[in-house]
Amino acid sequence: MELKQSIFVYTEVEEGTLTKLSVELLGKARELAQSCSKAVVALVIGEHVREAAGQAIGYGADAAVVAEGPQFAVFDSILYARAVQQVIAAYTPSVFLLGATKDSRDIGGRVSAALQLGLVADVTGAEMKDGDDTVTWIRPAYTGKVFAAIRTKTRPQLATVGEGIFLHNASDPSRKGEIITAPLSLDGVTGKRRRTGFTAVAPEKMALSLENAEIIVGAGKGVGDKAGMEQVQAFAERIGAGFGVTKPLVDDGWISHDSQIGITGKKVAPKIYIALGISGALQHKLGIKDAKIIVAVNKDPDAPIFKFAHFGIVGDLFEAMPALEKRIKALQA
Ligand SMILES: Cc1cc2nc3c(=O)[nH]c(=O)nc-3n(C[C@H](O)[C@H](O)[C@H](O)COP(=O)(O)OP(=O)(O)OC[C@H]3O[C@@H](n4cnc5c(N)ncnc54)[C@H](O)[C@@H]3O)c2cc1C
Repeated sequence: MELKQSIFVYTEVEEGTLTKLSVELLGKARELAQSCSKAVVALVIGEHVREAAGQAIGYGADAAVVAEGPQFAVFDSILYARAVQQVIAAYTPSVFLLGATKDSRDIGGRVSAALQLGLVADVTGAEMKDGDDTVTWIRPAYTGKVFAAIRTKTRPQLATVGEGIFLHNASDPSRKGEIITAPLSLDGVTGKRRRTGFTAVAPEKMALSLENAEIIVGAGKGVGDKAGMEQVQAFAERIGAGFGVTKPLVDDGWISHDSQIGITGKKVAPKIYIALGISGALQHKLGIKDAKIIVAVNKDPDAPIFKFAHFGIVGDLFEAMPALEKRIKALQA
C-alpha cells in the first residue's frame, strides 16, 4: 500500500499501550481515509514501542512507522519534533493528526513553525468531500459561540484534537499491517532532558469517580476561590456525589486536570449533574451533554447554562447549597 500522501496519526504511548486519545485519532483517520482512498499510518515514538505499533494496526492503521530507542526514553520536544519533521519529509503526508495533549501540542507547534505549515488546534470535526483530500476542520471559536470551518493550504494538513471528540473505535486484532523503522538521522540532535529518577504520582483520591457517580456536582469560577471550591467539594461528599470542575479552576492550580469536565477534560453521564457557579460555555456543555438531568445554580439569570439546564436556580450558590443538601438528603432517606 502506498504510504506517501497518506493520513498520519502521531500516537502517544503510556506504559507500553496506546493512549485512549491515540486510539480515537486512529478511528477518525480511518474514517477520513475511506472518503479519499488513502492509507492510515501511525507514527509511534518511544523507547520500547513495537507492541504499541501493533496495537495501532489493530485500531485502523495500515502501517506503523516506528522511531524507537533509548534516546526517546524521556519525551523531549526538540528531539521528538525533529524526528516528526524527518518522517514528514520522507512520507509527505496529506494529513497529520495529533492529540491536543501537552506533549503533542508542543510537537505540533514546533513542526508547524519549522515547516511553515498551517495548524488547526482543538478541532471538533473533520471531513473530506468527493475524494478530494482537503480536510474541512471544524473548531469552536469565540468561546464556543460559533463553529468555524477551516481549510489549510499547506501539506500536511496539521490538526490537534482533544480526547472524547471522536469516539467508538474498536480494535480488530485480525487487521494486518507493516511495521517500518522510521528513516531518521538525528546525529547531533540532542535532547535537553535527562531522566534522573521517576516517581509515579497517584491521581487525587476522590470519594466517587466521575466515570460512575450517579450524581455529580460541578464547580465553576463562581465559587470565587480555592476555599469556595473546597466548600462545594465537601457538599458533594456529603450528598454522596462525584465532584468535577470547569477548566478555569484547573488553570488556577486549585485542583488537578483529572477533575476537569468538558471537551478537554472528562465526558460525564450521571443521572443528575448539579452545576454550581458555571456559566455554561460550549466546551463545558459538551462534557455534560449525556447527563440525564442538569440542575444549575447561577446568580446571573442570563447565564447560558439556563438555556440547556433542566432546572435552574437564580441565586448565590453558597446560599443554595444548604437547601439543596436538605432536599437531596430527604429524597435519599
Ligand atoms: C480550547 C479550549 C478548551 C476548553 N476546554 C474546556 C473544558 O474542557 N472544560 C471547561 O469547563 N471549560 C473549557 N474551556 C473553557 C471554557 O471556554 C470556559 O471559559 C469555562 O468553561 C468557563 O468556566 P466557568 O463557567 O467556571 O467560568 P465563568 O464563565 O467565569 O462563569 C462563572 C459563572 O459563575 C457565576 N457566579 C459567580 N458567582 C456566583 C455565585 N456566588 N453563585 C452563583 N453563581 C455565581 C457567574 O454568573 C458566571 O456565570 C475551554 C476553552 C478553550 C478555548
